Amino acid sequence: MEIWQKLLQASITRPSEVTRRFGIDPRPLEAVAERYPMRINPYYLGLIRSVGDPIWRQAIPSEEELHDAVCPADPLDEENQSPVPNLVHRYPDRALFLVCSECAMYCRFCTRKRKVGGENMVIDQKSIDGGLDYIRSHPEIRDVILSGGDPLLLSDDRLEAILKGLRAIPTVEIIRIGSRVPVVLPQRITPALVRMLRRYHPLYLNTHFNHPDEVTETAAKACARLADVGIPLGNQSVLLRGVNDDPEVMKALMQKLLTIRVKPYYIYQADMVQGTNHFRTSVEEGLAVIQSLRGHTSGMAVPAYVIDAPGGGGKIPLLPEYLQHLGSDVVLKNYRGDLYHYDNSAAPPEEKRSVAANDHY
Ligand SMILES: *Cc1c(COP(=O)(O)O)cnc(C)c1O
Ligand code: SF4
Repeated sequence: MEIWQKLLQASITRPSEVTRRFGIDPRPLEAVAERYPMRINPYYLGLIRSVGDPIWRQAIPSEEELHDAVCPADPLDEENQSPVPNLVHRYPDRALFLVCSECAMYCRFCTRKRKVGGENMVIDQKSIDGGLDYIRSHPEIRDVILSGGDPLLLSDDRLEAILKGLRAIPTVEIIRIGSRVPVVLPQRITPALVRMLRRYHPLYLNTHFNHPDEVTETAAKACARLADVGIPLGNQSVLLRGVNDDPEVMKALMQKLLTIRVKPYYIYQADMVQGTNHFRTSVEEGLAVIQSLRGHTSGMAVPAYVIDAPGGGGKIPLLPEYLQHLGSDVVLKNYRGDLYHYDNSAAPPEEKRSVAANDHY
């Protein structure tokens, strides 16, 4: 058995095993773990420094999960945008393909909390084949995002069969893997795995770091292995109360990610998902994070801040008010708050522009 399989097998799945270690009462948490699965492997558990810290909050069940009277189970309306089981086709040219129902850790804030790790998320050969058939019969899909659950919890062979199936469809241009494994179980990124993955380029991987303490040497090594076989790495963080709802923490995270060759891609406003209301922040806080990044640090460290629109409208970007006025005079505000003007009336008229373009030849 490989190290990652041993770690996964040694995962804690009952609150009493954690609370004993930290000397707190397990009873209130048992009911939470009945409703929403828990799984924390020894590697990620080892990152906890104290009760209630940002790592703890992401991994250990909380009573608050059962006292959420605000949020619906499927706010993004994924189930209604699934033409076949386990595939969400929301945008014109790309599809989200759920290929594994398990994760290396069950994040308390998960957007698919309604089903991930539970019995009602059934992914089998039939649903995989159904997804591949759908993608094959929809040539407008040029970008397939493998998600779940976590696709990297599949065996190398099973994952390879899916990648092979996708590569046999000529209209699929790029494949993306969405995985939290580099963060929560980096030992899974083995030399054998990356040797397999490199055969299915162009392949991208978006991972999910939420806090600088997650960027360990082991995680860095996992990312290096992926980057070394030419897989561009992106990161999708969720803005979470008590985890990273602090511009300084987010800045440290974004900067650290660049040092391990991971490009910040998105920061998500927390979705309104049942059982996760205690993690939500205001939108103003998200805008403050972006404001603290743009101009103050590398542009490479600045992701897009998005809200995945409730009702299934897709991701909508939000920006602080850099554009103060749009007209023949454009008024702009820079990162220091100073105002600048751009003369928008001086663009050459259509006719002159085409002459200028012809001059080129
Ligand atoms: C996020 C998402 C995508 C990918 O969106 P990008 O902005 O291209 O990264 C595709 N489909 C669904 C259903 C999604 O939620
Ligand atoms: S790894 Fe992703 S899918 Fe799995 S529990 Fe965490 S957020 Fe949910």
